[in-house]
Amino acid sequence: MRYYTLKHKGIAHVAAVKDADSKRAYILRAYKTMNVLLLKGHDGSIPGLSEAVDISDPGVEILSPIPHPRQDVICLGINYADHAKEAESFDKGAFTKDKADPIFFSKRVNYSQGTGAVIPMHSDICDSLDYETELGVIIGRAAYRVSAEDAMDYVFGYTIVNDVSARNLQTRHKQWYFGKSLDGFTPMGPCIVSKDELPGVPELDIRTYVNGELRQSSNTSYLITGIPEIIEILSQGMTLEPGTVIATGTPSGVGMGMNPPRFLENGDEIVSEIEGIGRLTNIVSDMPI
Ligand code: MG
Repeated sequence: MRYYTLKHKGIAHVAAVKDADSKRAYILRAYKTMNVLLLKGHDGSIPGLSEAVDISDPGVEILSPIPHPRQDVICLGINYADHAKEAESFDKGAFTKDKADPIFFSKRVNYSQGTGAVIPMHSDICDSLDYETELGVIIGRAAYRVSAEDAMDYVFGYTIVNDVSARNLQTRHKQWYFGKSLDGFTPMGPCIVSKDELPGVPELDIRTYVNGELRQSSNTSYLITGIPEIIEILSQGMTLEPGTVIATGTPSGVGMGMNPPRFLENGDEIVSEIEGIGRLTNIVSDMPI
């Protein structure tokens, strides 16, 4: 099942599409928002007589599946070996990782925008805007003291997150929080794919295109700390509530890793793509928010 938040005739709805090839989205009126669905759970059934809309209809706007996450997004830093190398080459002080333990940080999300929406440049304070395509894991059951062996039982599904980053702020302020948390820095989507469609620990091709040029190309099987281990480590000391979004880290190929670095410019189109989930497309904009 693919879960969308979409806007139709001016009203946001939670909707479900039964399979990847279908455009027919059944509106799930029992759930006011995706957060409610994640809290209550969903058994995958579509009630009879559910109203359906066509997601390719220009009158249907696809929003972020979770426009307002209940909590900050939990992120992993330097979680692909090839990205560790390029990040260190950009700024040794800010990105060196000398231990095998994962780096966790948080990303404030005042709102998340969906596919087709703009990413604001914040060019008055940001001179080095960058993209990071990541597999987003959505937690569906409260997880506390969960072993890696059982961890996948707590996953609801997956989405694509672009962990947009202002590199100058990320390095200037030492901790990464501010440079990753500006308004509009968490595009997500196009939908949440339930875990039954991507069984086991998913090994998915992950790519980014900027203006059609392939920049990132890897596979989630190369994660240094995998999804079961991430859930095990975090849940030893903090309950991962339903609706928690975990951004699992980005592979190499970000703008700061290029020689010389190539940062995003006004009008650039970023396509973040993950096999089995889809494409998240956003346009960089210098217009004031
Ligand atoms: Mg990241």
